[in-house]
Amino acid sequence: MKRLIGIILGTLVIASLYIFSNLALFSSKQSEVELLPKAHVSENAAKHLSEAIKIKTISYDNPAELDSAAFFQFLSFLKGAYPNSFKATTHHLFGRFTMLIEWKGSNPSLKPIILMSHYDVVPVPEENKLEWKEDPFGGVIKDGMIWGRGAIDDKVGVIGICEAVENLIISGFQPERSIYLSFGHDEEVMGVNGASQVAHYLKQKGVEAEFVLDEGGYITQGLVPGMTQDVALIGTTEKGYLTLELSTKVEGGHASMPKPETAIDVISKAITNIKNDPFPSYISPPLRNFIDYVGPEMPLGFEIVFSNADLLEPVLMSVYEKSPSSNALVRTTVAPTIIQGGAKNNVLPTHAKAVINIRILPGESIDYVYGHIKESINDDNVHLRILNKSEAAIVSDVNSPNYITLDKSIKQIFGDIVISPYIMIAASDSRYFTEISSNVYRFCPFHLNKKNLKTFHGVNERIGVEEFNNAIRFYTQLIKNSTK
Ligand SMILES: [Zn+2]
Repeated sequence: MKRLIGIILGTLVIASLYIFSNLALFSSKQSEVELLPKAHVSENAAKHLSEAIKIKTISYDNPAELDSAAFFQFLSFLKGAYPNSFKATTHHLFGRFTMLIEWKGSNPSLKPIILMSHYDVVPVPEENKLEWKEDPFGGVIKDGMIWGRGAIDDKVGVIGICEAVENLIISGFQPERSIYLSFGHDEEVMGVNGASQVAHYLKQKGVEAEFVLDEGGYITQGLVPGMTQDVALIGTTEKGYLTLELSTKVEGGHASMPKPETAIDVISKAITNIKNDPFPSYISPPLRNFIDYVGPEMPLGFEIVFSNADLLEPVLMSVYEKSPSSNALVRTTVAPTIIQGGAKNNVLPTHAKAVINIRILPGESIDYVYGHIKESINDDNVHLRILNKSEAAIVSDVNSPNYITLDKSIKQIFGDIVISPYIMIAASDSRYFTEISSNVYRFCPFHLNKKNLKTFHGVNERIGVEEFNNAIRFYTQLIKNSTK
């Protein structure tokens, strides 16, 4: 008995030593950067964003609904609002409306940087219109807020970047490194004619970008569990996707004498099998980065767990799996989105189909995911067809000078906040640019909290004037820090 107690105590002591030595070694990765005094931003900037919101550059699933006139109007609005920029740069159009602007640097031997955003917006559904406190396309500026569709997704990016560039040109700034600005017109419908073509063109031209910055992470407030401070999240990768159609064909018959399985049974079983065989959850390298950057800033309880992530991986995973948003960070997820079958209430259906939408964790491939799904279904009567796909993005290096420059620019404008790499769950136009740069980052320079999170693609989308001014200051500082 004594011996047993001794062994238990000994094990506990060793385990605690191990846990606490990991904790002691778990040091902060936050940089020390001084906050810059706030540069003056003209009132015209907010007015420009307001004007931009008024132009209904809406992307529809049905391309025939696209209003070309609005997109032309938006591009000519840019030329009118930023005359100095258009004088000092050259530009090309792709897919008619996506604009790539090139601001030539003085040193052609340096690789260019690419700043991206998109000016198309999602529609405002008729049934939601009454819930809007201001006209979604009115560009109303009231009580320090700029209202309307696109205010945060993502006309803030386009106008924020244009304001920064225009002011820099007026001030006589000449970048050493070239700067490309890529403003997409079809991001909300996959970016196939816009960003994808821009990336293709740049690749053909032999351009290799020093880094690319697109929309993605935000300065989150109360959105990272365990963190009371603001956390700026820089997307260093994004999940891939695969949409699969499952279909089957069986013999028909009358519902009074059902065969053991109808087409609906076959498809239902396939979906059940997929759900019962989820993709594994684990700490992938980009999640490890997040743990290493955020963990040391957390309260002690969390910090102990994060500093011992390897040992406590099962505990960590069981916590992450509880909420849909964190579950999405630890595994490839599968969601059935469409199911169809049967037409008459007394006829056995001969055909049935379903669509599943899969979001792929970086590090896993479409081939692997397809194989896993096929194995889970384990039924040759179920046919699979790929509807669309995109590999998960490569993971950008958090130790590269570009990440460090981005980190510094954020802190110079937003002060002493925690900054961390993370996995972007949604898809962005930047995924096409991983072909021409190994440093692709996804970050939007404004705050996101539980309140405005709901306004994304939702009701009452808006941004504070001062928040928008800070976005301009951020883009200005990033250009200065990275191109001279
Ligand atoms: Zn967007």
